[in-house]
Amino acid sequence: MKKTTFVTQPYLPPLEEFIPYLEQIWENKVLTNCGPFHHQLEEALCEYLGVEHICLFTNGTIALVTALQSLRITGEVITTPYSFVATSHSLLWNGIKPVFVDIDPNTLNLDPSKIEAAITPHTTCIMPVHCYGHPCDVDAIQKIADNYNLKVIYDAAHAFGVQDASGSILRHGDLSVLSFHATKVFNTFEGGAIICPDAKSKVRIDQLKNFGHVGEVSVVAPGINGKMSEFNAALGLLQIKYVDQAIAKRQKIDALYREQLASVKGIRCLQDAGETVANYAYFPILVGPDYPISRDALYQKLKDNNIHPRRYFYPLISEFPMYRGLSSAHRDNLPVATTAAYQVLCLPIYPDLDEALVTEITSLIAIQ
Ligand SMILES: *Cc1c(COP(=O)(O)O)cnc(C)c1O
Repeated sequence: MKKTTFVTQPYLPPLEEFIPYLEQIWENKVLTNCGPFHHQLEEALCEYLGVEHICLFTNGTIALVTALQSLRITGEVITTPYSFVATSHSLLWNGIKPVFVDIDPNTLNLDPSKIEAAITPHTTCIMPVHCYGHPCDVDAIQKIADNYNLKVIYDAAHAFGVQDASGSILRHGDLSVLSFHATKVFNTFEGGAIICPDAKSKVRIDQLKNFGHVGEVSVVAPGINGKMSEFNAALGLLQIKYVDQAIAKRQKIDALYREQLASVKGIRCLQDAGETVANYAYFPILVGPDYPISRDALYQKLKDNNIHPRRYFYPLISEFPMYRGLSSAHRDNLPVATTAAYQVLCLPIYPDLDEALVTEITSLIAIQ
C-alpha cells in the first residue's frame, strides 16, 4: 500500500531540542499568562517579521475576533468570500454583517475596484485576506479606506514572513492577524497573533485577550481568554530557528511544480502578486475549461492515487448556510470567486515533501 500524501504536513523541529524548553517550564512552573517564553517569542517574532508590536494568541480565529473588538468595529464589514470560513465567522461573532465583494482573477484577493460600490453608511471596515500569502493591492485598499474613513484589518493567516518592496506585508492597514495553526508555514500547534502599529494598541489588545483585566481587581472590557500558553510559545521559539530552512524547502517544491506544469494545457499556476519575499505556503493550480477533465475529476484521480489535494476555497464562504441569505452572497455578485472555487486545487506542499513525489503528482496531472 502506497503512502498517502496530504496537502500539507506540519513542520516539526527535532524533538530532543524541545526537551530543555519543557524542563524549564516544569522547573519554573509558569504555564501561561504571559510568562518568559511568551515574552521571548514576542521579541523573536518582531525581529523575524520586521514589525514593532505583536500580541500572541491561542489561535488565529480568536485573534481576528479580538482585532475587531479592539477597534470597536460594528455595522458592516467588506470582506472576501474566497477564504477560510474563520474570516467571516469572526465578523458574526461580533454581530457584524459581512458584505462580500468579488476577487481579482489574477491574485484571487479582494478586488479593490469593486469595493466602493459595496460601501454603505453602515460600513466601518474592510477585512481583506492575503490569500495563499500573495499580497493584496494594499495601496488601492488603503486609498479607499482613507476616502471613506474605514479601518482595514488584514487576515494575514497565510502571509507569515511575506515582504513587499518596502518590508513586511504585515505593516499595512490598522491591524494584521496571523495564524500559527499546525497547517501554516510557521506553527505553534495552535496559535495566532495580532500585529499592531503602536504600544497603546498593544496594551488594549493584551487586555482584551486576558478577560479585559487590568491589574488584580479591575476589568475594563468584556475581554475573552485568548492567551497563548508557555508550551505553545516554547514551540514557536524552537520553530523559528528552522523557519527559513523550511521556507527554502518549500521554494524548491514550488519551483519544481511550476517547471513541470508549465506546458500542461489547461492548468494555470497562480503567479506572485508583488511580493519580494514569498513564503510558498500553498500551491494552488486552476483547472481551466481547456483541461481534458473537470477539476473534480482530477481531484478524484489524485485521491485514487493516494494524493490528497484540497479544493481551497470551495465552497465559497458565501455559500454556507449562515451566509447565503445575504444579498452580497448571491453568485451574480461574485462571478470571479465562483469560477475560482470551481477551478482551484491546492497541491501538496510542505518542507519534507519528496521531490520524486512532486514529479509523480505532475505526471498524473499531465497524462490523461
Ligand atoms: C488558518 C486560517 C484562519 C484561522 O486560524 P486558526 O489559527 O486556525 O484559528 C483564519 N483565516 C485564514 C485565511 C486561515 O487560513
